[in-house]
Amino acid sequence: MIIPASFPHTVAMKKPQAWGNKPKLGQHFLADHSICSRIVEAAEIRPGDHVVEIGPGQGALTGLLAAATPRLTLVEPDRELSFQLMLHHGRATMLREKAEDVDFSVMDGPLIVVSNLPYYASVSIFKHLIAHKRNITRMVLMFQKEVARRIASGPGHRSYGSLSVFSGYHWTMEELMIVKPGAFRPPPKVDSAVLRFTPLSAPPVAVDETRLFALVKAAFAQKRRTLRNNLKGVYTADSIEEAVTAAKLGPNARAEETPMAVFAILTDHLQKADIPAE
Ligand code: SAM
Repeated sequence: MIIPASFPHTVAMKKPQAWGNKPKLGQHFLADHSICSRIVEAAEIRPGDHVVEIGPGQGALTGLLAAATPRLTLVEPDRELSFQLMLHHGRATMLREKAEDVDFSVMDGPLIVVSNLPYYASVSIFKHLIAHKRNITRMVLMFQKEVARRIASGPGHRSYGSLSVFSGYHWTMEELMIVKPGAFRPPPKVDSAVLRFTPLSAPPVAVDETRLFALVKAAFAQKRRTLRNNLKGVYTADSIEEAVTAAKLGPNARAEETPMAVFAILTDHLQKADIPAE
């Protein structure tokens, strides 16, 4: 894929943005061309691929994406930015709505999704994308660094949590780069990280997905408690004993150290408790 040498044509806003401490709609725009190029290169776009950019903003990535493929869909809820983007990228399909409201499953796929996500909505947009993963072949997404670590961590890591298990069930993930605040206008207060997601051809464990995720949510409910204590009240005492024995877990085992394969064994043995209605 050839990236044009000049910085892509970004769109201007009619009114200067009110850049206080908290930009509206998480609008921290990329102002570093080499980072934009690396993000777009990581998406490995071939001409003819259908690319969806979430939150194109002033178009820092959009020009590069449009140069890579003519099939481009832009999802931007900001009225003024979407209007300006339409003027500059007339061939692209513009959806002036929130990504969480877009049905990605009915788009002509498979899709490549690229985004410098707005921090405030990044987790809900990410979960929405997971729900449409069957129509997505690759994603390159930028998050606040802490959120990226929560998504891509493995057991034993400080950031490992239910979101990590949830993501690892669906995708392989690579952390491609850390992006410092100086790369954005206005600069955010925290570092960002770019992750590339490739869907797994089959789930890594063979258990009922809904039951697995209900268990994982319960297991991580309170960080300071042991796994066993977090499960109490949600599952029957007998089935907890049976499950932790089958999974060979010690009495002080914690969810933060528990790999997905062990959550799968627990899922097979746990029975929901009958919680009396208040
Ligand atoms: N892609 C541009 C860049 O890298 O310079 C802008 C990125 S900026 C961090 C996030 C963009 O997402 C903004 O343009 C903002 O208007 C848009 N946005 C905010 N909330 C959104 C949502 N719920 N769905 C889609 N886009 C959203």
